[in-house]
Amino acid sequence: MRISSLGKPYFILILVCWLGFGSNLIAGQGDTKPLTNVVLVTVDTLRADHLRAYGYEAVKTPAINALAAEGVLFENVIVQTPITLPSHASILTGTYPFYHGLQDVVGRLRDGVPTLAEWFKEQGYATGAVVGSSVLLSQWGLSRGFDFYEDNFPTQGIRQVDFSRVERPANHVIDLALRWVEGKRDQPFFLWIHLYDPHDPYEPPEPFASQYRDQPYDGEVEFIDSELGRFFEVLKQWGLYQDSLIVFTSDHGESLGEHKEKYHAYYIYDCSLRIPLVFRVPPHLSRGQLSSGSRIPNQVRSVDIAPTVMQLLGKQVTEWIQGEGLVAMMAGKRPNIHLGAYAETHYPRIHFGWSPLFSYSTPDQKYIEAPISELYDLKQDSGELQNIIETESALANQLKNRMYELQKKYAPVNPGAGGTEEVDAATIERLKSLGYVAFSAGGAADSGLDLPDPKLKIDTYNRLNQAIELSRTGEREAAVSILREVAGKEPEMPIVHFMLGSEYFHLGLFLKAVEEFQQTLKYNPESNVARFSLARSYLRSGLIDKAEGVVRELITLEPANYGARHLLATILAKRGDYQGAVQEELFVVEHRPSYVEALNNLGSYSLNLGDNQQASEAYLQALQSAPNSVMVRVNLALAFLNLRQFEKALEQAQAVTRLAPELALGHYYLGQAYRGQGMDGEASAAFLKAKELDPKFDAPNL
Ligand SMILES: [Zn+2]
Repeated sequence: MRISSLGKPYFILILVCWLGFGSNLIAGQGDTKPLTNVVLVTVDTLRADHLRAYGYEAVKTPAINALAAEGVLFENVIVQTPITLPSHASILTGTYPFYHGLQDVVGRLRDGVPTLAEWFKEQGYATGAVVGSSVLLSQWGLSRGFDFYEDNFPTQGIRQVDFSRVERPANHVIDLALRWVEGKRDQPFFLWIHLYDPHDPYEPPEPFASQYRDQPYDGEVEFIDSELGRFFEVLKQWGLYQDSLIVFTSDHGESLGEHKEKYHAYYIYDCSLRIPLVFRVPPHLSRGQLSSGSRIPNQVRSVDIAPTVMQLLGKQVTEWIQGEGLVAMMAGKRPNIHLGAYAETHYPRIHFGWSPLFSYSTPDQKYIEAPISELYDLKQDSGELQNIIETESALANQLKNRMYELQKKYAPVNPGAGGTEEVDAATIERLKSLGYVAFSAGGAADSGLDLPDPKLKIDTYNRLNQAIELSRTGEREAAVSILREVAGKEPEMPIVHFMLGSEYFHLGLFLKAVEEFQQTLKYNPESNVARFSLARSYLRSGLIDKAEGVVRELITLEPANYGARHLLATILAKRGDYQGAVQEELFVVEHRPSYVEALNNLGSYSLNLGDNQQASEAYLQALQSAPNSVMVRVNLALAFLNLRQFEKALEQAQAVTRLAPELALGHYYLGQAYRGQGMDGEASAAFLKAKELDPKFDAPNL
């Protein structure tokens, strides 16, 4: 594709001529023919140039090699944003982030944006997804159109590398996916599998940990390859492989230290934008027109994946798709045609108050819009190290104009609901454990290029990341000292005060936490999550009136903030107002019916009011989400004892003694339940056991 030289526009987009071409190339599946099963595999954080199929010799990756040998591989693929949630949204909708509304690590897919899964459902498919990380929870909207969306991250079975990691390793994802496929063997299906492992921290299981001791990122890649190999092998055994369309790709790359960025999301250099893309097309769809093992040099984008799937299945690309079907390219019919690639990141702006970044690239040049804009000659300088914008400003302007045209063309006419929203404190904690900062710096959504350039802030950013890593490994004092250093240099950054407040809170220094959350609100008065954290810190400091004042202010600002209502319930209960506490928790569980802590508290407040019926109902509901919770079962046993429902009390007490055999209270309630049923012998034995475990539990007179 070296048809141009720097400075000469070479780029021709002949959109109209090619639009209908793909669907004619491969004949449609007639209505009488069975539908083709489709599997979409997205491996998180997978740099194309860290796969053997892309020329990297330091890994083996036999499963991906085999897939590439059978399929059609795109050599030059750019994602539209280096952030997991919005990038997956672009893959699964074929639209740009500024259109579908997801532009950050959290948010909500804009209402009315159609998804590929919905399209498959319309075609008569069963649709299933298994995701490997809580950054893709269904609450963000990507589950739209899936009959089955496995994003339940129980505390058991997930990878516990830190105190609260919320990641499911590839072997679990594959097991869950196979379980779903097994039930769908007589029905056409669309399955999306998301493997999270190459995302940091890089901690592959054995034997990959030993084999890749000095290159743990590659070890994770080798691990997911082995699991993919297992998955394909089972599909073959079930006779499902041969006729399936398999799409293999990623949501973004990983900087691995290039440009001083360790991971991804902050910059939009190619190391975090270039991903692999392979379509393994079954013979009945390919009809001899696509050659196995072919490699396509044309530049394409992740918004092109969804329309290509539609074309390969013999369907017209739907009008809402913003990418292009690539089937003609796959057949070698569009040589020298490259699709201009747009990318963006709002991560620096949303979380740090620095400028967002936007880019537009051809295979030869790349323009990055920033307060100090950049232009790179990718042919001479693939590492994007020499900014040549000063000498090539005309070329930069051309690319910039194309970028503006694209943004204008695909912007939503009526944005409506969705997009960035503030998240609660628990979500911030969870995302932090995944290495993301989810605190909003506040300010208008459109403000941009007048903010500091992220390039000039990379050292501060890296210091903050260091603090996050220390925090998540429990080294909170060290995290505090880094954060204080940053706060000294950048006193007006709300996120630094917020992070400091969180560290102090976890260290039990609640008054210091109060101070930092006050500072956060000083520089970002809109932050309700800071308000919530302030109220919580007041409460833990024993300043109940202050806590109540702040939490009531927060509820006035945001009446549906269930976290705030839950906190208010705690405050009211502390004052002895159980009636008020019950009212608040009833509101909470109505909106969050699986919030175990709220249900458990609702039960306990009800017990205090003597409403054992309401208590038992709340505990039973809590057990649906937390069947192994000893605390809930103990409380439920008590509620049943109070209700004189001894058989049910016995059942709960037995469960408690099974789950926690050393807990004296469980045996004590067991004794009471036996006694209630007139089984005095069993009762005596249970009371004796309780006393043995804890002398406080003296057996009552029988
Ligand atoms: Zn990702």
